[in-house]
Amino acid sequence: MNLVSDYKVITRKPHHCWGCTVEYPAKTLMERIVSTEGGIISSAYWCKTCMEFMETLEAFEREDGFEYGGLLNYDNYISPLSLPKINRANLEIKKDGVFDD
Ligand SMILES: [Zn+2]
Repeated sequence: MNLVSDYKVITRKPHHCWGCTVEYPAKTLMERIVSTEGGIISSAYWCKTCMEFMETLEAFEREDGFEYGGLLNYDNYISPLSLPKINRANLEIKKDGVFDD
């Protein structure tokens, strides 16, 4: 993986974080990473949690890049997914009773 550019952006649209697959709403501060791999250019958004976690990894672990959701494979990664999961559970409970979605 060759890094082309790497900068912080306030997103204008919702984006899924590449590292943890969580969808973040518009106007979130995220890191946009543009890279090339085998002549293909790709860009990905990363959330703050994932960026901080990546800084704890050794260089050799980062150099090949990560598959989508790849950080979730690390045992010591605390996923921001745990929060939306709780919210979803609550929503389903509400749907049975009051909620009209
Ligand atoms: Zn993330």
